[in-house]
Amino acid sequence: MTDKFKVIVAGAGPGGCIFARDLATAGFDVTVFEKGDYETIGHNWSDAMERSALEATGFPAPFEGAVNTGPLVKSTDAEGNPTGIYEQHAYPYMEVWAPDYSSRKAVNFRYVTTDRRALGKLLVDQARQAGAQVMFHHEVVDVLLSGGNSLGDVEVTGVVVKDIETGETQSIQADIVADDTGFHAVLRTKLPASTGIADKFSDDEFGMVHRTVRKRNKNAIDPVADHYRYGYQTGYQWIQYLNEDEIDTGAGVRHDPKSPNPKDIVEEFISRHPSISDEIIRGGGGLCLVGRSPASLVAKGFVVIGDAAAQTIPMTGCGAGGAMMGGKFAAEAVISAASKGKNDCEALWEYNRKWFVDSRRGANYAALTALRNILQDLTHDDISFLFRKDILSDAMLTDSINGLFTLPDLPTMAKTLAGGITRPSLLLKLNAATTAGTKIFKHYLAYPKTWDAAQFAAWKLKTDRLFAATISKKAAA
Ligand SMILES: Cc1cc2nc3c(=O)[nH]c(=O)nc-3n(C[C@H](O)[C@H](O)[C@H](O)COP(=O)(O)OP(=O)(O)OC[C@H]3O[C@@H](n4cnc5c(N)ncnc54)[C@H](O)[C@@H]3O)c2cc1C
Repeated sequence: MTDKFKVIVAGAGPGGCIFARDLATAGFDVTVFEKGDYETIGHNWSDAMERSALEATGFPAPFEGAVNTGPLVKSTDAEGNPTGIYEQHAYPYMEVWAPDYSSRKAVNFRYVTTDRRALGKLLVDQARQAGAQVMFHHEVVDVLLSGGNSLGDVEVTGVVVKDIETGETQSIQADIVADDTGFHAVLRTKLPASTGIADKFSDDEFGMVHRTVRKRNKNAIDPVADHYRYGYQTGYQWIQYLNEDEIDTGAGVRHDPKSPNPKDIVEEFISRHPSISDEIIRGGGGLCLVGRSPASLVAKGFVVIGDAAAQTIPMTGCGAGGAMMGGKFAAEAVISAASKGKNDCEALWEYNRKWFVDSRRGANYAALTALRNILQDLTHDDISFLFRKDILSDAMLTDSINGLFTLPDLPTMAKTLAGGITRPSLLLKLNAATTAGTKIFKHYLAYPKTWDAAQFAAWKLKTDRLFAATISKKAAA
């Protein structure tokens, strides 16, 4: 093995492309297999992307200081050429309303809306320009495995790829295989169950989202402002102006037969707002992952990135930024492992540490998952009460929408107690959620420093117990 591995990536999503780009830039031999098509890569709509993730992966963050109705904001690359990935719209502060519209908060929304198709193509282009081969219409249908069945023993040695046009399959060996196949986690879930990282995501780890971009009816008198309605129908609903002529509106709900169809929520909203015309520009929807990461993102010869690794914000399902950060961290870990001529768990462990501990992303997302598990059944009345009493404050909402867990402090706890005194069962639930979230956050910061089978098994066992408690608390509530 040399210091420049042969690398195969399954899936050309945001995470896979950043991973491929960074490794190809460092001189690795990288091939990306993508079952879809270049022209239709990404979503046919606008996604809210974390500005910090864009910036960290080399996209200049525009829009600091921009206002909702401000002038056109242009997106350019470092040389000043337009990239076309950003919508003209950006909102540093967003109105977040209680489900019953009785009160609102100002949330620092650290996102920018991107044209996800343009961004998807740009990421593929960048990976190619860096030297990665990107093969469209190629589906990775299997992984090649050797070694034993435990996480420390199993080795991924390559993939089986099907050329969708000819139907031919071939086995290809690689030093590193990356799974960026989205929430189906096609490769990770083919590892032996006994590795502890092969589970499929369960139904309750998904939301259902529908969004539509419509022509704006400028003649209509409709003082509808950009806003986000928090906790509405177990999820959220939003409306935002993309620009002078276009409005983006949508809704997300828990993936549960009892939840309403998010498309119906959107249609009902549109029927009450004459400024949103019937003219559909683009849109769509589907399942959105809000689950938790596998206990390790690496095995020998293997890394998992993006939705396949649940690098999504549990409160919103936003995962494009997390995937890009996952791709970046995984590439850094592979470069450092390769410099030692190794591709085993021990050498790749740095990726786990970067995700769960150093960046705190994994720890924050895990703690927010605990909060979501316990609090997702709150009624509109309860959530609206929390808004009015400022127990759900601007700062807390800002944190959770931006993927951060708020560690409780004494003044906040005192304020919560005083404000919520008339609803003791709600207070109990909040206390259970905060306590579980804090425990889980701290537990993730104590993630094993290096690969050690016994330490990992103990850490995973405790993780599963902590999460099981959040489910039983929900059931008891
Ligand atoms: C309706 C909706 C709205 C969303 N809105 C937002 C938002 O506003 N902001 C945000 O950040 N996120 C949003 N998300 C989530 C976001 O789309 C994902 O988190 C993000 O795209 C994950 O990136 P990824 O790198 O994991 O790859 P993905 O985007 O999941 O792409 C995976 C790629 O792998 C390919 N593939 C799959 N299987 C194979 C295989 N076997 N072989 C080869 N190729 C394969 C697929 O064709 C696909 O191109 C939304 C999701 C939905 C459904």
